[in-house]
Amino acid sequence: MASALSSHPMVAGVAGTVVAVLMASLSIVTLYQGRQGVLDHAHETSANLVAIISSDLARNVEIYSLSLNAMVEGAQNPAMRELPPALRRQILFDRATSAAYITGAYVLDARGLVTEVSKDGPLPAGSFADREYFYAQQRSASVGLFFSHPFASRLRGIPTIGLSRRVNAPDGSFAGIALLALNVAYFHSLLDKLNVGAEGSIFIVNEDGTMIARKPFRDDLPGRSVAGSPTFPRMANAMSGSYSAVSPVDGVRRLYTFSRVPGTPFIVGVAPAEEDVLEPWRERSRIIGALTLLSGLSFVAVSWLLALSLRERARAQEELVRLAGTDALTGLPNRRAFDERMDDEWRRGRRAGTPLSVLFIDVDYFKPYNDTYGHALGDDALATVAHSIATAVRRPGDVPARYGGEEFVVLLPDTPQEGALHIAEAIRQHVQACAIPHRASASGKVTVSIGCATASPPGLGGPYGLLGAADQQLYKAKAAGRDCVRPLAHAAAPVVAS
Ligand code: GH3
Ligand code: MG
Ligand code: MG
Repeated sequence: MASALSSHPMVAGVAGTVVAVLMASLSIVTLYQGRQGVLDHAHETSANLVAIISSDLARNVEIYSLSLNAMVEGAQNPAMRELPPALRRQILFDRATSAAYITGAYVLDARGLVTEVSKDGPLPAGSFADREYFYAQQRSASVGLFFSHPFASRLRGIPTIGLSRRVNAPDGSFAGIALLALNVAYFHSLLDKLNVGAEGSIFIVNEDGTMIARKPFRDDLPGRSVAGSPTFPRMANAMSGSYSAVSPVDGVRRLYTFSRVPGTPFIVGVAPAEEDVLEPWRERSRIIGALTLLSGLSFVAVSWLLALSLRERARAQEELVRLAGTDALTGLPNRRAFDERMDDEWRRGRRAGTPLSVLFIDVDYFKPYNDTYGHALGDDALATVAHSIATAVRRPGDVPARYGGEEFVVLLPDTPQEGALHIAEAIRQHVQACAIPHRASASGKVTVSIGCATASPPGLGGPYGLLGAADQQLYKAKAAGRDCVRPLAHAAAPVVAS
């Protein structure tokens, strides 16, 4: 893994980035699940509140219903008319008057006139036949317990809901109603003690959309209809449920949870504002998000820094390897690098069955040159000779190298003797053409002698056999008067220039 990283250092950066992105995705998914959990919990809490209000309301309505039943039974009993008014009232309204928020209990006759009243004092005058709670019972014998819409009580002016039951004559015809006046404040009292957050709302609404009570309280709301709101049908058409919507009353997005109250036309709804519910989650998410972003970015930055430094190191190492194989004076590969290439090319030549040639080049009379011009100029001359050799050797696979001192070699893969001689001759001429002055040499300028050998591996036994053969040819070239090329196969007929 470490070596894979050092050969592909950018992998560290990419891997770090991928890991950071994965971690960020994971934390986003977790945060989103957390949001869902918060919403689910809010719905649960709302559903519990709705259940509490609903059962409170249902229990009270049951008590009111029992009272009305007693009133109806009394009103239908002919014996009751014979009793003194005080006793009659006591029997008729025994339970009704004790119930909380009941502002009055009445029995009305078929014309809508009050015939009995729970409180002391004169009977309320006039007909109540125009009231909804009256004519609903008058029209149908099967209404049962009827809840009117909120109205301002004619007697006291307070918002009231009328609960009525039909009183039948012995023949089953309409004989009037029994009526309880229920103060709307009762509904407010149910909602008052509950808390649904700063922007939350909690309400009791009639199934036809008439608002009965709401917290926070608004003067204009009781009696107003929300039936026109786009989401109301979702409440009206189900026994219970939940959804999220923008309130038609104040434009706040809320999470609605609602349920019908059994035995009544009422729907109880609890709707905390989404903002209130999600705020703690948002706060937490902002912190976690910022930390994730910060740690993710740091992770990515560190991975890329690591990648870049690995790449730097790899490059430095490459350069070191290159320098270790390079001769400092001439810039050519050194003997070590040459030997490695020689081994490689020998094996390649053996596999491919191609010939391999080697040139051994030695500067003529170089000791006298140094003695005449000094070592520094000697080095310059060597650099010039090296440059000539490198210039004459053209193929990318050819390897010119400084073998040591003022001796150079050239490895010519896949090159037969003719080609090798050609290049050797080109080198010799190139050096001559440089015309480096050399007083101590008969020719007056720096020249080279070149030994040349060619083999088809495994001929000559190995790379060193080939090199040795070229070296021998070099001696022959020196012996033949220098500034010439000697090929192995043509020792007797050297290719000589000048
Ligand atoms: P020959 O024609 O027979 O080659 O004569 P020569 O004087 O060149 O003899 P030889 O090949 O033995 O030369 C070796 C001399 O090359 C020794 C040294 O003065 C010189 N020499 C070897 N390496 C360097 C070097 O790195 N720099 C310099 N300036 N001279 C070197
Ligand atoms: Mg020498
Ligand atoms: Mg020499």
